[in-house]
Amino acid sequence: MAERTIKYVNQWIKNKIGRDILPLELILFVTTRCNFRCKHCFIDSFDLDHGNDLSLDVIENLASDLPSLMVLMITGGEPFLRDDLPEIVRVFSKKSRPKVVSIATNGFLSDRTFGTVQKILEQEEFCSQLIVTLSFEGAAESHGRNRNNPKAYEKALLTAKGLNEIRTFHSNLAIGANITLVPENKSEVLAVASELAGSGLFSFLTQNIYRKRKPCCANNKCSLDIYRRLSEFVINFSQTFKMSGNNIIGAWHSYKERYQADLIERTCRDDKYQGLSCEAGRGIGVVYPDGSVAPCELHPPKWGNIKDRSFPDIWNDPQNRKFFDELRADKCFCTHECFISASLNLQLFPMSSCLLWNLFYRGIKK
Ligand code: SF4
Ligand code: SF4
Repeated sequence: MAERTIKYVNQWIKNKIGRDILPLELILFVTTRCNFRCKHCFIDSFDLDHGNDLSLDVIENLASDLPSLMVLMITGGEPFLRDDLPEIVRVFSKKSRPKVVSIATNGFLSDRTFGTVQKILEQEEFCSQLIVTLSFEGAAESHGRNRNNPKAYEKALLTAKGLNEIRTFHSNLAIGANITLVPENKSEVLAVASELAGSGLFSFLTQNIYRKRKPCCANNKCSLDIYRRLSEFVINFSQTFKMSGNNIIGAWHSYKERYQADLIERTCRDDKYQGLSCEAGRGIGVVYPDGSVAPCELHPPKWGNIKDRSFPDIWNDPQNRKFFDELRADKCFCTHECFISASLNLQLFPMSSCLLWNLFYRGIKK
């Protein structure tokens, strides 16, 4: 545990002084393929080479190039469609040893999900907290309508149930539910949160507010009052269930989550920068299924491609560093939760971040 903490602090210092900069958090899109085509999905909006997902070899090189990775967020498309998902996690476990590996899923492919999660957790090399987060966009009917499949909600709950059975034998597995607030679901989203919390299937809940490509907050038709109430509910639920038995971390986690929700609400309301410099392009970054690299999901993936150059080369390219400096000088802002969370973690680091993640690793209890 201490060895990993030293590694993170070391990389954080390098990032601060601008030497051999590498992200501590990475969003890895492993595929553009999905069994659904949701109305709000943005995966097709990227200028990507679709149907040409990265090979395991290239992903292994990426993992070797990121020895200080603290958090690996796997997403897609539907990540569980990749047969080699356990191998992808294995190469990161061997080369990067991240503290947390999270996988975002629509939860429809139950059997595939159970098999893959079992394989990951049984790997000798696996040394992380595994978080599987299922996404919800409304009550059963509207969720099904959005996914174009009336059984989508029910199947996601069945997947959560099966994952809970696996969790009985693997305490380093946590199951989350992410609720996206969109204009169409604002009348039911609080009831959905309450139902998911009451199901007893989830270790924690998270909330997203719908965003388009930048500028993401302009013309947002979601009710901020609903967002505030949803955030409050989600934070209270997570504090009670996720961090139970650990008052210090419960308090810190809840403080950070409240700060983040408040910042997002202010950003949406005022449509302007709220004083948090973004870590996108330094402490956190994105790799797409075709290998292209971007500082964040809201800027075009144009920094380079890991099929052509190594990730550190791309990340430390003077042109890309200049782009990062300009983003910060221009006080770039948005409401993307992953990037706000990473920016809060990495700017309060190491005082709070190490503490948070170290205890978070042990602290998720249902
Ligand atoms: S489930 Fe997710 S990745 Fe698949 S279409 Fe819907 S939003 Fe896109
Ligand atoms: S604030 Fe950060 S995550 Fe948001 S658009 Fe700007 S660089 Fe990207």
